Amino acid sequence: MQFIDLAAQQSLVRTEIDARIRAVLDHGNYILGPEIGELEQTLAAYVGAKHAISCASGTDALVLPLLAKGIGPGDVVFTTPFTFMATAEVISLLGAIPVFVDIDPVTFNMDPAHLEKAIEAVQKCDPTVYPLPSAVDLAGARMAAVIAVDLFGLPADYERIGSVCAQHNLFLIEDAAQSFGGSIHGRKAGSFGHVAATSFFPAKPLGCYGDGGMVFTDDDDLADIMLSLRVHGKGEDKYDNKRIGLNARMDTLQAAIMLAKWPLFESEVEHRQEAARRYTALLAERARSIITPTVPEGYVSGWAQYTIRCGNKREDIRQHLASNGVPTAVYYPLPLHLQTAYSPLSYSQGDFPISEQASVEVLSLPFGPYLKDSDMDIVIGCFESL
Ligand SMILES: *Cc1c(COP(=O)(O)O)cnc(C)c1O
Repeated sequence: MQFIDLAAQQSLVRTEIDARIRAVLDHGNYILGPEIGELEQTLAAYVGAKHAISCASGTDALVLPLLAKGIGPGDVVFTTPFTFMATAEVISLLGAIPVFVDIDPVTFNMDPAHLEKAIEAVQKCDPTVYPLPSAVDLAGARMAAVIAVDLFGLPADYERIGSVCAQHNLFLIEDAAQSFGGSIHGRKAGSFGHVAATSFFPAKPLGCYGDGGMVFTDDDDLADIMLSLRVHGKGEDKYDNKRIGLNARMDTLQAAIMLAKWPLFESEVEHRQEAARRYTALLAERARSIITPTVPEGYVSGWAQYTIRCGNKREDIRQHLASNGVPTAVYYPLPLHLQTAYSPLSYSQGDFPISEQASVEVLSLPFGPYLKDSDMDIVIGCFESL
């Protein structure tokens, strides 16, 4: 059994992929060719955003809006410590200060009440209000932005996070790297915040065959700046440089591959819902010691991962599944505030207890739109014999 089966999808559209690749080889526009615009228009329409700007990775999709807003040294950006490294890394890369905010234990997403506490702590420079990076002098720092993450595919609580951001004039970025296909009350992931960033890494809900990403926004000025930043800060042309930028373009070939896969996407989102429902129903009957994922009313998860909580039995469960040929994964084994790379911030064990607890309890099971019922039954069977 595979943790995620990417070959099943390919077998359904291999002819279209081959034809799309051949078309690119024929026209030869490898950089920003016509498939790039076609993909951007297709995904902007799907998400319901005015602008979609493709780029080289999900990480670049987070860098571009921060750079466009001029966020850098002396700026505080709030995010959660229970996410993939890229979410916080981009903040540090630009010289800004990541300030971590703990998660909700049920959704694994940023807790809006904790965000308010963290804001108050920064305003007062008082770590007794909320844990702060003790090695960083926050006097005179400007609170600039929030990056909320849609972990495992479930959109964060944008109604509450958005209103906290509005109240404090904070720029809000949705890290939708895992949530493409998800929604809140019919509004698609990728449309929340001032800007949303997503990733097309092969294992994400909508993947390419390499690295790729996209930024979505309704803000015309910001879109213009990000288009410029994507190509070395170009102005009228690429030898007219208005600002310091990057080479953050997506390859034409990746866009071509995604266009070939795109007709499958809506049905894949549906298959993910069905698979998640089936897992949850069967696990609830047979595995009472674990906690299955909860999707709040009105929310649809993109189900990048199906992640359970195992209490203090994770290693036993993991080994038992492995010995039955069932692969699993732990996202994420160490919260970011405890990573070596973040030791210069001097956060401590115990600063974000909900994230720390999640990191020892979570276990992601084999999942995907092409997961066979028979494979799922094997996974479920392992819990019966635990
Ligand atoms: C995958 C991921 C990213 C980074 O995307 P890349 O395309 O790998 O650069 C950022 N944030 C989250 C939450 C992710 O899961």
